[in-house]
Amino acid sequence: MTCPIECSKVRFAVAAVREAAQLVRRVQKEMVVDALSKDDKSPVTVADFAAQALIGKRLEETFPEMGFVGEESSDSLRSAEGEKTLEQITHFVQQLIPEANADDICQWIDRGAGEPTENFWTLDPVDGTKGFLRGDQYAVALGYIRDGVVRVGALGCPELADGVRSDKGGAGSLLVARRTNGSFVRSLDDEQAAWEKLSVSDQTDVTGARLMRSVEKAHTNTGGIGRLITELEIAADSVPMDSQAKYAVLAAGGGEVNIRLLSSARPDYREKIWDQAAGSIVVEEAGGRVSDLAGTPLDFSQGRTLAKNRGILATNGHLHEVILAGLKQIGA
Ligand code: AMP
Ligand code: MG
Repeated sequence: MTCPIECSKVRFAVAAVREAAQLVRRVQKEMVVDALSKDDKSPVTVADFAAQALIGKRLEETFPEMGFVGEESSDSLRSAEGEKTLEQITHFVQQLIPEANADDICQWIDRGAGEPTENFWTLDPVDGTKGFLRGDQYAVALGYIRDGVVRVGALGCPELADGVRSDKGGAGSLLVARRTNGSFVRSLDDEQAAWEKLSVSDQTDVTGARLMRSVEKAHTNTGGIGRLITELEIAADSVPMDSQAKYAVLAAGGGEVNIRLLSSARPDYREKIWDQAAGSIVVEEAGGRVSDLAGTPLDFSQGRTLAKNRGILATNGHLHEVILAGLKQIGA
C-alpha cells in the first residue's frame, strides 16, 4: 500500500530498509543460535556488512549523485583474517543480488566510508548489536540529511509490533518519517498492510513518565538516571531497550522519554549521526521533541558525530522542559 507521505526518498528508504532488515533477520536465523554458545560476534559482523553493502548498492542505482555515510568500512574484510567473513557476507548478499562478488561488496560498503556532504544518506546497518545477539530489539536505521537537517528517516525493527510492543519472531515494524509530513508505521513483512499515523503519548504528568534507556550500562549513566527519577519523583517503571527501537516506541506512544546520559567512563563521547538521524525525525514528526541534554537542537552538519551536542533527550514534547529542568538539577 502506498505510503501517505510518498516521495522518491521515502519510497527508497522504505524499500531499502525493508530489504536490509529482512536480510539481517536471515543472517540472525542462520548464524546466531550457534554463535551464542561460543560467545562469537561474527553474526552481527556479517549482518552489519551485508546490510551496508546492500544499501550502498541500492543507493548507487537510485541516487548515484548523493553522499552516503555508513558505520562500516571494508578495511578489515580485505585482510587475510577477513576472508572467511567476506565469504559469508557474499553468500547472504547473493541471495538478493546473485551476480555480486566480493570486490563489488567491498566497493558498495565503502561508498559509505566518506564524510558527510550537504546532501547525504546515513545508515546504521544493525543498530543495537548487543540486542541482535541476545534476540532482543535491534534496528536498521537510514536517514537522509540536507543542510544539516534530517529530512527523511526510516527504521526497520524486526522484533517490534506496531512500532510499540516487543514481538519476538513476529512480522516486525517499518517506520518512516518525512519532515513536516508526519511519521507512519506498517508491518515490516506485509507490504499490503495499511500505514498507520504515529502520535506520541499525551502524558503531561512527569511522575507517570516511562523512561527508555540503553540496556548496555556502558552506553549511558544508570546512576544519573536514578538521580533524575528521584529528583522528579517519577513512579513509572523505566524501560531498558537496545537500539533506535526506543525512538520507535516513543513515536508510537509506548513511552514518554528516551534519554542518553553520558557514561562516566566516556564523558567526552559524542553521538554518531547514524545512531540518531532516523530515530530523531520519526519522533519529531510524531509530535515529540528531540534535543541534547542542555535542550540544544541536534546539529547534523558537524561530520560523522554530533560534535556540538552532549547526550540526547527525546520526549513526547509535553515533558521536555520539566525533564531538562530535572537534568539541570542533578548536574547532568
Ligand atoms: P543502545 O542500543 O541504546 O545501547 O545504543 C547502541 C549504540 O550506542 C551503538 O550503536 C553505539 O554507536 C553507541 N555507543 C557506543 N559506545 C557508547 C558510549 N560510550 N556512549 C553512548 N553510546 C555509545
Ligand atoms: Mg548504532
